[in-house]
Amino acid sequence: MTDLFASSGPAPRDEPAPTAGADRRVAVLLPLPLREAYDYRVPAGMALGPGDFVEVPLGPRRVVGVVWGEGAGVVESGRLKAVVRRFDVPPMPEAQRRFIEWVAAYTMTPNGHVLRMAMSVPAALEPPKPMLAYLRKEGAEPPPGFKMTEPRRRVLALLDDGGPPRTPAELAEEAGCGVTVVRGLAEAGLLDPVMLQPAAPLARPDWEKPGPELSATQKSAADDLRERVESGTYSCALLDGVTGSGKTEVYYEAISACLKAGKQAVVLLPEIALSAQWLSRFAKRFGAPPAEWHSELTGAQRRDTWRAVANGEIPVVVGARSALFLPYKSLGLIVVDEEHDSAYKQEEGAIYHARDMAVARAHVGGFPIVLVSATPSLETKVNADSNRYARIELPGRHGGAQLPDVELIDLRRDRPPARHWIAPSLKQAIARTLAEGEQAMLFLNRRGYAPLTLCRACGHRLQCPNCTAWLVEHRLARKLQCHHCGLSQPIPHHCPECNEEGSLAACGPGVERIAEEVAELFPDARAAIMASDTLFGPRAIQEMVRRISDHELDLVIGTQVMAKGHHFPMLTLVGVVDADLGLGGGDLRAAERTYQLLHQVAGRAGRAQRPGRVMLQTYMPEHPVMQALAQGDRDGFYQLEAEMRLEAGMPPFGRLAALIVSGEDAVAVERVAMALGRAAPRSDTVHVLGPAPAPLALLRGRHRRRLLLKAPRATQVQPLIASWLEQVEVPPSVRIQVDVDPYSFL
Ligand code: ADP
Ligand code: ZN
Repeated sequence: MTDLFASSGPAPRDEPAPTAGADRRVAVLLPLPLREAYDYRVPAGMALGPGDFVEVPLGPRRVVGVVWGEGAGVVESGRLKAVVRRFDVPPMPEAQRRFIEWVAAYTMTPNGHVLRMAMSVPAALEPPKPMLAYLRKEGAEPPPGFKMTEPRRRVLALLDDGGPPRTPAELAEEAGCGVTVVRGLAEAGLLDPVMLQPAAPLARPDWEKPGPELSATQKSAADDLRERVESGTYSCALLDGVTGSGKTEVYYEAISACLKAGKQAVVLLPEIALSAQWLSRFAKRFGAPPAEWHSELTGAQRRDTWRAVANGEIPVVVGARSALFLPYKSLGLIVVDEEHDSAYKQEEGAIYHARDMAVARAHVGGFPIVLVSATPSLETKVNADSNRYARIELPGRHGGAQLPDVELIDLRRDRPPARHWIAPSLKQAIARTLAEGEQAMLFLNRRGYAPLTLCRACGHRLQCPNCTAWLVEHRLARKLQCHHCGLSQPIPHHCPECNEEGSLAACGPGVERIAEEVAELFPDARAAIMASDTLFGPRAIQEMVRRISDHELDLVIGTQVMAKGHHFPMLTLVGVVDADLGLGGGDLRAAERTYQLLHQVAGRAGRAQRPGRVMLQTYMPEHPVMQALAQGDRDGFYQLEAEMRLEAGMPPFGRLAALIVSGEDAVAVERVAMALGRAAPRSDTVHVLGPAPAPLALLRGRHRRRLLLKAPRATQVQPLIASWLEQVEVPPSVRIQVDVDPYSFL
């Protein structure tokens, strides 16, 4: 996204007065793929204001929606259905409603669809109910004939240990039995029922708790951010500093200022499930943890959090991109950490970039936003260069820790042996690191054992039947998997094509295969794999991070799960197995992304007293990305990358929007794609490429065609696309997705 506010979204409308009238009607937006709000009659005696959450009839159903404004009066009032009830929660704030409209307009998604992202927990609208819990009933003896089974004994033993009353579900989980066991004990009169009042709000982070003594540069950065928060007006600042320079400490000061002002703050992290270290660090700094918001929460956690955010009881939320859509009562600061991370782009449903939407949220809400990165996106960098965003710099690592030395290993000369992937010089460096009692990490952004399996007899490659993709061997799980649709099948003994037995051969490495090589080269090293599919859930990741921090492991082989923000004091060597991996494919941002990722991986090395060393294995040592990394010449790289984009009229200097046409019927998809091609808006400055089969021409059984619109930066692409789409008839079996500012070209 370049000119964020070029299209400022719909103008605010007149707000209805929060009084009840005889003939009053309101427009209610429903969390369904609807563009418009529907009118409903306000029953006598019901006071409704804008933003109120209400239940309304829709056909035979009842749905929950939000009062969006005064009714339009198109439908005769006699035929209008009435609002059923109003929920007892604070109304959705005006800024949040304007934000929803803005996101909908920008991403060309129906308002109701975006509203649904903000109403993902309807249960939160009902007041929490008291819950039944149990204590041990003192002196109660089992009735005659009551069989004291082992699970029953365990539950009673738990309760005999004292502790607070617990719900049947909690007791069952702790005792490792079913809930019926607990119920049986209650029916036998051995337990004392207690009604638990809803969970007390979490302890509040304490803004007065002092942080560490900041260096002079850190302090001036922190003061700058504090002033922005205190001013209570919109501004966007890029906090730009190398990994380990104290960016987190500095933005904690901004959070402290926000809490002092009595406002709420939200911190977006690209992979919140991987952020245990961040959470415990925050808790240490402020004496209480933040509230989390991400897909791993339980239903009850989601409900309590949503409600407490709406009530203003939760002052700090840390979350994934969806945290932007929570109904903050009084939001006063957004921090987007690792703002360059592509995990911020949501590719399903409403396609949006959370960093860009966060800037819009701050603008609508009239408060500051801080974008944080050691390797900003080119978009953000250009915005800072042109003073649209302020730039706050932290040039050096805190405490004088040195940035690691980056060396290139030219794989054309320094060759690993056949079917091995660790070059002799990297092997040597690992040996030395281990001998010094330090830790090493090998990075390869590829899960599984091998990315391709082929038949040595007939050359057949094992492919996913639903996707244009090879099946990836996962040897530990003994499965072939498709990383696009999740298909998983046993590894066959025969080639499915020529039926030859034992002819299937693994091609290329994934982390599992590197682990095998490590075990062969360094049999005594304590090694482990760290990848999203070898670690189940945040707990497992947290445990792995702890094992590395506590030096229970000597060598870690990891995918990008490893690259994110962790701080390992004894990790002094990082080896990148295939530094060229991200550069193929002709993606617009391939070089930028590779640079950012490798820079981040490199940043894991030597974060404490011991200096770090980074070795990149590459077949293209002369490539600008490799040169920039080896020479630590970040700005030179950005400069070159910016020149190339400018030359080509590509973002952030030009605009792109993609249309993805998909469906199960290849012919119907092709027909719509061709019709779109013929109707495409074309002029001296606006160009449309395609239709062309998408690189993932088949995905989850759907055929896919792409069109790409390219326009000058000043162009508002949304109206262009809207009138383009109007000209083409689309059968129900075919779907067109609009991706404004695409990041994925697959
Ligand atoms: P970044 O976010 O830029 O990677 P961090 O804020 O994580 O940097 O800082 C790196 C390390 O240095 C952390 O362990 C942090 O606690 C420590 N640190 C940074 N600034 C200070 C300071 N002023 N005093 C004490 N420790 C600091
Ligand atoms: Zn597949």
